[in-house]
Order: sequence, then structure tokens, then C-alpha cells
Amino acid sequence: MRERSCDIAVIGAGTAGLAAFHAARDGGADAVLIEAGPGGTTCARVGCMPSKLLITAANAAHAARHAETFGIAAGPVRVDGRRVMARVRRERDRFVAGVREGVDALPAGARIAGRARFTGPDTLAVDDHTALRFRAAIVATGSSPAVPEPLRDLGDRLLTSDTVFEIPDLPDSLAVLGGGAVGLELAQAMARLGVSVTLFDPGTHLAALRDDGLAETARQLFGAEMTLRLGCTVTEGERDRAGVRLTWTDASGATRTDTFACVLAAAGRPPNVRHLGLDAAGLALDAHGLPDFDARSLLCRGGPVLIAGDANADRPVLHEAARQGRIAGANAARLVASGRDAVEAPRRWTNLAMVFTEPQAASVGTPYDPADATLVLGTVDFGDQGRARIMAENAGALRLHADRSGTLRGAEMLGPACEHLAQFLALAIADGLTAQDLLDRPFYHPTVEEGLKTALVAIVAGLDP
Ligand SMILES: Cc1cc2nc3c(=O)[nH]c(=O)nc-3n(C[C@H](O)[C@H](O)[C@H](O)COP(=O)(O)OP(=O)(O)OC[C@H]3O[C@@H](n4cnc5c(N)ncnc54)[C@H](O)[C@@H]3O)c2cc1C
Repeated sequence: MRERSCDIAVIGAGTAGLAAFHAARDGGADAVLIEAGPGGTTCARVGCMPSKLLITAANAAHAARHAETFGIAAGPVRVDGRRVMARVRRERDRFVAGVREGVDALPAGARIAGRARFTGPDTLAVDDHTALRFRAAIVATGSSPAVPEPLRDLGDRLLTSDTVFEIPDLPDSLAVLGGGAVGLELAQAMARLGVSVTLFDPGTHLAALRDDGLAETARQLFGAEMTLRLGCTVTEGERDRAGVRLTWTDASGATRTDTFACVLAAAGRPPNVRHLGLDAAGLALDAHGLPDFDARSLLCRGGPVLIAGDANADRPVLHEAARQGRIAGANAARLVASGRDAVEAPRRWTNLAMVFTEPQAASVGTPYDPADATLVLGTVDFGDQGRARIMAENAGALRLHADRSGTLRGAEMLGPACEHLAQFLALAIADGLTAQDLLDRPFYHPTVEEGLKTALVAIVAGLDP
């Protein structure tokens, strides 16, 4: 074993780890970056970017099929699955190459290839070739797709987001397990590309929507494009000649079976902390093996270890991974230079999460709590919203909530242009604006954004005089 020492060991060269590494070096620390996998980041290689490439192809097919709405005959639409997947990979590879160039430009001595695990409170082993002593460590190991037990022996008929973008051609049929952001985005994309999709979820609310009304609209809209098996739990999966035979228990408790060409497991992404030896690092761990950490400083209780990005399972989205990485890297440098008291705890960003389906779903700010009687609500229904009708995307709604002073707190939505509405509201909430503040600002016409005024007016009207 080669022996080395450094100020800061960063475990994982994903979005969070790379940001942490740069911030630690900017803070004057001698940082080392350890990566076990192919690199390129989950976002660029198997996450945000390839999924959005697939979705864009699918939406192009969908738009061509539905051009009749506008009096345009596009003719029969033929999807060439091989070409669709080839473009996804080609464009994806450009994003990955950009990340890799950045990593390759780092000093060779600052990078170690291999899988790290803690061997003590200030030591790590990387595979069986390097023993690394550190003064602070940053866990930025990301998360991986969960594969439910019944699907474990399906061989190449089992897909996850790690493998689905590598398939040479589209399957005839696909069972998707999981109706959250990853599962629903990929399910709708596959359906629009002509794959017969069945989506299973033990819950009833797709896209992590909390609002019962929005969840019902989601079931209607997505159910028109794929078979929904909600309230269903898959209990068995077996390979057969046609593909995979799945058995599940439905909402009434009955046992049912069907056969699919492939299965996509999108039933959550547990953080990659199981084989890290966090107990050897002396950290206090919860029942899931996750360290007790402060969500603002990202410092763990019990040792000079910080945890950032999907690894801490707090807000598993890209912009949070990047920011948390920067905070963890800067704090690790402060810790090494001046001790734990020097660590800073910046204010958290406004929560923001999106699902890139059509219609899009998003949540922003604090989640709506129906039990909180102090909240004032405003709704815009997209059914009759001007721009939404122009685009023939007039379905769904946005529910906004504010406190008694009219200060905007959060929103949940399902509808057109939600990526823009949610982004817009995230800035307003972060700036502490009230509903009236926002109404006093310009809204261009005819935009989907101007629909927000309906919800804002309702909030102002609902405030105590
Ligand atoms: C299909 C899909 C679509 C998504 N779409 C979006 C989206 O549209 N918008 C959005 O905001 N987010 C999206 N996400 C989530 C987003 O990709 C993640 O939140 C983000 O990439 C997490 O970054 P990270 O740095 O925490 O982890 P990663 O980028 O996964 O980096 C972790 C790194 O740690 C390495 N590693 C793990 N264990 C070890 C070890 N023991 N030793 C050394 N190295 C190790 C891994 O190999 C990996 O390279 C999507 C995710 C998926 C899967």
C-alpha cells in the first residue's frame, strides 16, 4: 500500500465532489479527489442530460402526432429507435467529455482512482493500493438506483437509469417501477417514442405531488399515455422467452401478472454510503447508515467529515449538489486552517424541484401543509389560461401559499411551463416578496407567467384587512 497524506480527501468526483475539491483548493488546502467509477458525473452521464435528450426526442414525436390540433397534417410518425438512442448518446458524450476535460486538467497528484472507505477517524483506504491520511474528508459519493428484490435476477432485461441510455434500440414494451421524477420522466418519454409502457407505484400520487387535486389530474393526464398500476406492489419478476414476467399485488389485494420486454427500476436512489466504513470514521449514524449532519454547514457529528450532494439524501438535485459541494469544500478548508468553530453555516436555498414531463410538475419553497390554518392560498387553473390555451396545453393548476402577511412561502404545480413558473417563484420566495410585491411588478402578455396573477390576487384578497 502506498501511503499518502493530505489536508482534505474528497470522495467522489461528481458534481458535489468537483465543486468541493475546487472550493477546498481555493481555500488554500491541499485537497485530493478520489473517484471509483468512470467519472463524468451522474448528471452528464446517466442523469439530467441524457434523460432530457430522450424526453426532447419523445416530445418531438408527440408534437408531430398532435400537429392536427393546429390544422397541420404531419403524416404518419415513424420513430427510429436506433437513431433516437444514438443521438442521445452522441450529445450525452459531449457533455461528459466537457466534464472529463476539466478533471483531466487537474494536477495528476491531486487525483486518485479507486474506491475509498474509511479505516479510522483520519484515514482512508483507496482500493488496496493507497492508504490516505487526511485532516478533513468530504463524502460526495452520490446515490445509485435501488433495485427492488423481485427484480434482482432479471439480467439484461432489467434496466436502471445507469443502463437505459445504453440500449441500442427501444423495447416493444416496458414496465417502469416508480412514479417519481426519474420513473415518470422516462416512462412518458418511452411511451411517446412508441413503447407500450406500464408504470407501477405502491402510492397513488405521481411526480411526488402532495396536493390531492393535482395528483388526480396527473393520474388522468399521464394515464392517457401509459397504463398506470398505482397502489400496486411488484412481488415477483422472472425471465421468460418473451422478456420478463412480473407478478404484483393490486390495490384491492388481488395477485396479477403480465409480461414485458424489459423492466426499468426507478424506485428511488439510496445514497452511496453503505460500504464507506462511516462507522470506522467515528460518526454518529442513523438507522439507514447516514451520518448525523448539519444541513447548512454540512459538517457531520463526531468527526472532521462533511457530506454533500445526493450522498446526504437531503435534496438530491443538481443545483443543490453543486452548492453543497462548494460549501463543504470551503468549510473543510476552514476546519483544517482554524478548527470547527471557523465553519460557516450559510442560509439554505429555497427548495426547488421539477419533473420534466408534459405537463411539467414542480414544487418550490416550503411544502403546503393542509393542517396549517395560518396559510393563505391562491390557485390558477390552466384550463382557461390564455397562453396555455394558445399552446393547447391548457391542463393542470398551480397552488400558491403565503403566510398571513402575504409573504410567499411555497407552491406546487402541474401544467405548462412549470419549469419557468417554479424558477420565477423560487426567486420571489428567496427575496421574501409578498403576493402584492409580485403583483406590483411587470408580467408580459400573453405568457403562462401572467396566469400567476390569478393566484396572487386570490392571496391578497384572502389576507386580513
Ligand atoms: C435519470 C436522472 C435524471 C435526473 N434529472 C435531474 C434534473 O433534471 N435536474 C436535477 O437537478 N437533477 C436531476 N437528477 C439528479 C442529479 O443528477 C443528482 O442530484 C446529481 O447528479 C448528484 O450529484 P452528486 O455529486 O451528489 O453525485 P454523483 O454525480 O453521482 O457523484 C458521486 C461520485 O462518487 C463516486 N463514488 C461513489 N462511491 C465512491 C467511493 N467509495 N469512492 C470513490 N468514489 C465514489 C461515484 O462513482 C460518482 O462519480 C437526475 C438524476 C437521474 C438519475
